[in-house]
Amino acid sequence: MSEVIDGKKFADNLCAELKVEVAQLIANENLLPCIAVVLVGDDPASHVYVKNKVLRCTQLGIKSIEHRLPMETEQAELLALIETLNQDDSVHGILVQLPVPKQIDDKAVLAAISPTKDVDGFHIQNVGALAVGEPIMVPCTPLGSLMLLQDTLGDLSGKHAVIVGRSNIVGKPMALLLLQHHCTVTVVHSRTKDIEEHCRRADILVAAVGIPKFIKADWVKSGAVVIDVGINRIQEEGKSRLVGDVDFETVAPRAAAITPVPGGVGPMTIACLMYNTVAAAKLQRGL
Ligand code: NDP
Repeated sequence: MSEVIDGKKFADNLCAELKVEVAQLIANENLLPCIAVVLVGDDPASHVYVKNKVLRCTQLGIKSIEHRLPMETEQAELLALIETLNQDDSVHGILVQLPVPKQIDDKAVLAAISPTKDVDGFHIQNVGALAVGEPIMVPCTPLGSLMLLQDTLGDLSGKHAVIVGRSNIVGKPMALLLLQHHCTVTVVHSRTKDIEEHCRRADILVAAVGIPKFIKADWVKSGAVVIDVGINRIQEEGKSRLVGDVDFETVAPRAAAITPVPGGVGPMTIACLMYNTVAAAKLQRGL
């Protein structure tokens, strides 16, 4: 019987610890961690993500400031706001919810955020720091996935990790994190030949593809630990539901442990955003 990794419970426990730490920072250091969340346009999914992030901040005692800008906002206006937030010592984290409208270059936006306030970990300086094994701000989804893996397996040293997907926000930083933790890492993507063969050699299989139920049971080695990052909405038997990139029903019996969707990696992403915000506040205060 495989273990279903309870990401929601882990995230709730992490947030409970952070809440205590935030209260101590306020009481002992007069430091109130604060994140500014910038939302441009009216993408419905982005509004839901921002609402959930702000709600978590409130639960933990972290201050959040929302900046909602209209769809037609020019890039210069957004960059000016980011610069104001960079200069504001009471703001420790800056998050610009992606995607931004097409008149705005998202690379320019990410580059404008001060690296020490880059709680998403997407600034090229933070990407480079992770690449040389000296991470400062680590992207939230890979960080949350790593925490679940360490909780499940303990020491990851020597494990063969196969990551399906090479995006800048999940696949690549996941690969770098696992390398840093002494895994042997294989990254596969849309041009890889014989993906199934690579997957079958994985002690740790991380799926970040964006294709519902992409990973099948016979791609998974018996006893592997499977982390399903995918979040896909599908219609099944007339009903809409969320599924991952792994065919959970058939893969779960083969795996030693597997994250469900929903309730696996998803809750960890917001919990790690809170973790990074507290870390950014301490970093800027020299704590
Ligand atoms: P991207 O679309 O940016 O990247 C997908 C990756 O999968 C690419 O590297 C692509 O390869 C690869 N890929 C696509 N098709 C295939 C294929 N047929 N065979 C092998 N590889 C393939 O997605 P993201 O990394 O942003 O997200 C991946 C999934 O994770 C999505 O379902 C997303 O919703 C979810 N997600 C979940 C989060 C959470 O909080 N749990 C946070 C972020 C994302 P190539 O590079 O060659 O095109």
